[in-house]
Amino acid sequence: MSLGDITDREARHIFNPPSLRADLWMELLAAARRWKTGKGSGNLRAELAQAIASMEPVESLFAYPGAKLLEALKARLQEDDPKAFYFLARRISTAIISGSYRHDSAEWDVHEDVLDPPTDRLSSVLGGQSSQRPYFETLVVTPFEASRWGYLTSQMRRIRRPEDEFVYEPVVVGSFEDALCAIFLNPQILSVVLYEGFAFRSATDVPQLRGLLNAFGLDKDESNEEAISLRLAELIKRVRPEVDVFLLTDRFVERLAGDPVASCVRRIFYQVEEPLELHLSILEGIRDRYQTPFFDNLKEYARKPVATFHALPIARGKAVFKSAWISDMGEFYGPNLFLAESSATTGGLDSLLEPTGNIKKAQDLAARAFGADKVFFVTNGTSTSNKMVIQALLAPGDIAVIDRNCHKSHHYGCVLSGAQPYYVEAYPLAEYSMYGAVPIATIKKALLDLKAAGRLDRVRIVDLTNCTFDGHIYNTRRVMEECLAIKPDLIFLWDEAWFGFAHWSPFLRPRTAMGAADALERYLQSPEAIKAYEAQQAKLGDNPSDETLLSTRLVPDPRKVRLRVYQTNSTHKSMSAIRQGSMILVHDVDFHSVEEQFHEAVFTHASTSPNQQLIASLDVARRQMELEGYGLVMNAIEIALEIRRQINTHPIISKYFRALDPGDLIPASFRESGFARYLEPGASWSHQMQGISNDEFCLDPTRMTVVCGTAGFDGTSFKMLLADKYGIQLNKTSRNSVLLQSNINNTRSDVALLVRVLLEICAGLESKFKDGSGAERASFDRHVNSLMHDVPDLPDFSCFHPRYRKQSGEGTLEGDMRTAFFDAYDAAKCEHLPLFDCQVEKRLASGPEMVSANFVIPYPPGFPIMVPGQVITQGIIDFMRKLDVKEIHGYNHEQGLKLIKVDGEHREASKTPPVSTKPAAKKKR
Ligand SMILES: *Cc1c(COP(=O)(O)O)cnc(C)c1O
Repeated sequence: MSLGDITDREARHIFNPPSLRADLWMELLAAARRWKTGKGSGNLRAELAQAIASMEPVESLFAYPGAKLLEALKARLQEDDPKAFYFLARRISTAIISGSYRHDSAEWDVHEDVLDPPTDRLSSVLGGQSSQRPYFETLVVTPFEASRWGYLTSQMRRIRRPEDEFVYEPVVVGSFEDALCAIFLNPQILSVVLYEGFAFRSATDVPQLRGLLNAFGLDKDESNEEAISLRLAELIKRVRPEVDVFLLTDRFVERLAGDPVASCVRRIFYQVEEPLELHLSILEGIRDRYQTPFFDNLKEYARKPVATFHALPIARGKAVFKSAWISDMGEFYGPNLFLAESSATTGGLDSLLEPTGNIKKAQDLAARAFGADKVFFVTNGTSTSNKMVIQALLAPGDIAVIDRNCHKSHHYGCVLSGAQPYYVEAYPLAEYSMYGAVPIATIKKALLDLKAAGRLDRVRIVDLTNCTFDGHIYNTRRVMEECLAIKPDLIFLWDEAWFGFAHWSPFLRPRTAMGAADALERYLQSPEAIKAYEAQQAKLGDNPSDETLLSTRLVPDPRKVRLRVYQTNSTHKSMSAIRQGSMILVHDVDFHSVEEQFHEAVFTHASTSPNQQLIASLDVARRQMELEGYGLVMNAIEIALEIRRQINTHPIISKYFRALDPGDLIPASFRESGFARYLEPGASWSHQMQGISNDEFCLDPTRMTVVCGTAGFDGTSFKMLLADKYGIQLNKTSRNSVLLQSNINNTRSDVALLVRVLLEICAGLESKFKDGSGAERASFDRHVNSLMHDVPDLPDFSCFHPRYRKQSGEGTLEGDMRTAFFDAYDAAKCEHLPLFDCQVEKRLASGPEMVSANFVIPYPPGFPIMVPGQVITQGIIDFMRKLDVKEIHGYNHEQGLKLIKVDGEHREASKTPPVSTKPAAKKKR
């Protein structure tokens, strides 16, 4: 691979352009070392010059090392001084990778480099980061000649004041295109200053940068746009909504300010206005994101002397620190935990149940950050958030179209609220013992069937998991558009327990509930929306058949739609919140109509003693994401891709393990783009983006299903092996796979550890086969075969017993699960039947029907294979009998199945099961 040749790395860096740069510097350094030691071949000096030249366009989008150091580097090359060149290249690349330039001004100077920097400098870099002012970069887009950029930079530096809380360096570019590339590539850019009159095209035509813009559809020629600066502001916000944009103009200030797009601009200045004003505004913008009202106040509270006469003896910690018996707890957690504990809602501490002060402020900041109208903090996990939303929005008898495979909190939410679940099935992935996600056709079919049965008016909500445990991401916008075309006031609950971080990736954000709601809202207000709807109506005619509706990509009537979207996320699962920290995000035009109910739901479920540290961590997690989420998420994605690459291409590891790709986990009919494999050699950015933008489902790259059955491990024992022997913890398992997950906490060293461990395990297998007799291999193959092929079929939801379908009759699938749930409280109404008893066969053949009294949820796979009131079928019995997991919630191994007695009731009626949720089209696969 030649230095500076970026194209062959495109695929790998698709999700993390910033890391491309670190790699290039490491390669430059390696070549510099060869030059210094005389070990290289060919004309290394010319090659290095070429490499620097090809890196310059990207380097110009970063403040460090900057033009001065790059010139110095080139001069050392010119002077043919390999040692000085190497030292400087080493200093720069180390500074880039460690980030030391952010705090150490010496890194910016051109000076004599020595091999070992003095230790006091090292320690100033490594230690005490928190005492340093946080550093960021400000992008400046100007029409000025490049020769004036240095002057502009020094002007901006001169304005810094010692009392500034943050420090920034300018990055100056001269065009629209360069500005967009900088926004993508440089995660440290947190604010942008636009002068009027900059060019559109970049002066340097770098193909890979153009490829990046092209992948996002941002390569359109906008040079004729009258307000090109506003257009740029709009696109910058689309890529990174958290970034502040300032506009310096010498004309039309009033007109610009009146443009609807001007909301993308934080402030418009006259170009001649005081530069100090601009400086202060930039800092204020950062302060606005940095502030954590609840956490700040909690720290303040902990500093104050307080005598407490309320419950919560642990507050202030006196009983802990003075104790002869539990003082180790104090030592372990440190004093601040106890000083920050309080049961008061006074003294500046707000009430989570009815926030009016800094909790309210913190929630408002979170709403802004996550692109919601409103946010509720929840301190008992998304388990509680889901129950709150379901209780708030659904009354007894309302119908919820709901993924049967979703988290148990939704099912229990239906029991609590009395809502009737209409279960829809995800497509099965039987070979890996898991489910995918629910096809849009299935959801539409459910709605159309309900409509045919005259029950559409009772349907209130569509409730889906995005992304699923295994990483299937919905096309959230399409699902909502098509459902709203059938019922324009449907509410959507997207359980994004795992997916909260996705807001911070421009690739994934359009697929989040809030990202899609935002895009959909803008679309619905546009003239195209009405045109598209009218064109569709003209084509469909007055009474389109269900088949036509199912096969048409429906668009809703924008005049009728009420956009009502809810998202729940386990902030603790993907961001820096303490366990159980969760949020409910609301984007609902009619929220006022449910606000009271919502508060009732909060009162029902929220503890009256919420944990202060947990609330503070939600506040802080938001701050972190607004200031560094973009880079952290990019990094998490790249780490996942690196793990995928290592497992799937390593000559030994790939013999036994495989990380599954979209092509394995999403049937081709749901991947219209044909995109099947991450890191496909030669895959272009735009192809990958097509899949992510348009396909019915795509796969979250950070959730890696790794097949271990082919190495002779079932999921559970492989998980135990990794945990017990190697200290590697991982997520869920299936019969023949495990799920690895990368997050904002992972580093490249974690990848190295994982790869080393997998290699060690593979080497163990290899040597066993080499030394052992053939019998060893044969037994291994048999075991692998059983794990991979002898997998039980996943049972679909059957139906509710007619006793619990009185309202719906035989028409549709929903059922009164709540009544069944409480029927099970009466022992006289229930019976038990051992799973392996021959009675089971008898009853399957000739009744009375077996009706489950409770939820039965095996882990894995973790979804209820029976719910209260559900008729038990042969398929369910077969699956239960084959299950080799120990943990089955709701099933007592001694007593067997708990059933509701339905002797003689409705036997005939339930012989004809209600309409299936499966559209005919699905059978074709
Ligand atoms: C984990 C999870 C929940 C529950 O969230 P907690 O924060 O653990 O209470 C809900 N839904 C899904 C999809 C989950 O993965």
